[in-house]
Amino acid sequence: MPETETDKVIAPIFGISRLRMGTDGSGVTTLVTFMGCLLKCRYCLNEKCHEPIFKSESNTPRDGILLLSPQTLYNRIKIDNIYFCATGGGVCFGGGEPALQWKFIKAFRAICGDKWKITIETCLHYPEDIIRELSAVVDYWIIDVKSLDPEIFEKYTEVPSIHLSRSLEVLRNIVDSEKVTIKIPLIPKFNSENDVKQSFIRMKDNGFRNIKRVKYIIRPLKK
Ligand code: SF4
Repeated sequence: MPETETDKVIAPIFGISRLRMGTDGSGVTTLVTFMGCLLKCRYCLNEKCHEPIFKSESNTPRDGILLLSPQTLYNRIKIDNIYFCATGGGVCFGGGEPALQWKFIKAFRAICGDKWKITIETCLHYPEDIIRELSAVVDYWIIDVKSLDPEIFEKYTEVPSIHLSRSLEVLRNIVDSEKVTIKIPLIPKFNSENDVKQSFIRMKDNGFRNIKRVKYIIRPLKK
């Protein structure tokens, strides 16, 4: 079969987890996790996403990493089509930061059509044009904002807090708030209950309805 443009959108994936419920969007969901993230969270939940993709001086991916096209991924996970369709579920893209693979997600939507729900678990730390691109194909957004306080955000993620406020504003204007879940974490040693409360109030005032407080577990700090 000739190679199509879609086949050229290859993404590095380190996890495909089937038959999940209650954590990654509506219904029965397959969680697909991409390599790569722009943040450097001090208690990163998925350290593997920061590792090199390829074995040294080769084009061979390291153990546990798959290089897949949207069509190949679709072929792998369609085994659960009946569960997705019966429960209003589908695929959740996480990572790492799935928005880095926005072209892949768009191409995947073109293949799976409207029968599956697409959820994205993201930090929303990227320019607004990517949010607009994704809003055309994503059904549900789960956003871990880390902290709305720039100082705390920067201390925890080690990157400047340049996009988050604007990204939240853009998202609120173009996506139905019912399709967005905001997570506000209590981050041991980095923020306080009061910081979480202030972020919660700010999110509510900005028109978000589904807001969850969560608590991070202390992990070894990144070096
Ligand atoms: S956003 Fe997620 S994957 Fe990226 S550094 Fe933070 S915890 Fe790790």
